[in-house]
Amino acid sequence: MDIRDIRLFLFDMDGTIYLGNRLFDFTKELLSVIRSSGRQYRFLTNNSSKGADAYVEKLTRLGISCTESDFVTSAHATIYYLKEKLPTARLYLCGTRSLASELSRAGFTVTDDPDGADAILLGFDTELTFKKLEDICRILSKKPDIPYIATHPDYVCPTEFGSVPDCGSVIDMLYNATKKRPVIIGKPEPLIVELARKSLGIPAEQTAVVGDRLYTDIKCGLNAGAKAILVLSGETTPEMLAQSDIKPDLVLESGAQILRALKE
Ligand SMILES: [Mg+2]
Repeated sequence: MDIRDIRLFLFDMDGTIYLGNRLFDFTKELLSVIRSSGRQYRFLTNNSSKGADAYVEKLTRLGISCTESDFVTSAHATIYYLKEKLPTARLYLCGTRSLASELSRAGFTVTDDPDGADAILLGFDTELTFKKLEDICRILSKKPDIPYIATHPDYVCPTEFGSVPDCGSVIDMLYNATKKRPVIIGKPEPLIVELARKSLGIPAEQTAVVGDRLYTDIKCGLNAGAKAILVLSGETTPEMLAQSDIKPDLVLESGAQILRALKE
């Protein structure tokens, strides 16, 4: 593939444009070259524990000027999905207060009453309690066919000291107890890419997902019929890539190589 054919770059964040709290040295110039060349970019995140406002704050702190419209999150995709499929659902939410208020603002009823729910939504819940796990098991046992949805499947979330369990780890924990698995909305499912590119009117062939994680970022690009660019600046090592059956269209050391290609 030729990087110069891409009109829309969908960047994963951690491991792709920054690492923890350190912006990669190419990021600012890369973003400005993309826009000045008439191309577009958006930031994609599966993290549903925080709203786009928190990411605006973080990127602004790292020196990138941005607005909420530069972000497409798994919560945005989930709200889109719910509006299509379950517009009047009362949601039992295992997620943060931030996600609860995002859902309420979008018109959904969020309940913590397991008997009053007609759908279950699992997000990255940094405010998780055992009661929420128990409530979900209770609902799935009483109503085995209830819609059960998760914002994303990532097993771990990077932190400054290593990793903490993310939504996918909770999905597995609940599977052990209930033998039920949720419908996944965020990466690797294609919806989040489709939302981003359709709002800009850019076809899949001219869209690239750029990320450091094979089973979410790269698989998402491939599932969406877009180009998938793996950067080795985050979690994936060349050994992990060699052992995986997920094959990116392009493998780069980092986004610096995208910048170089666009400047040619
Ligand atoms: Mg990443």
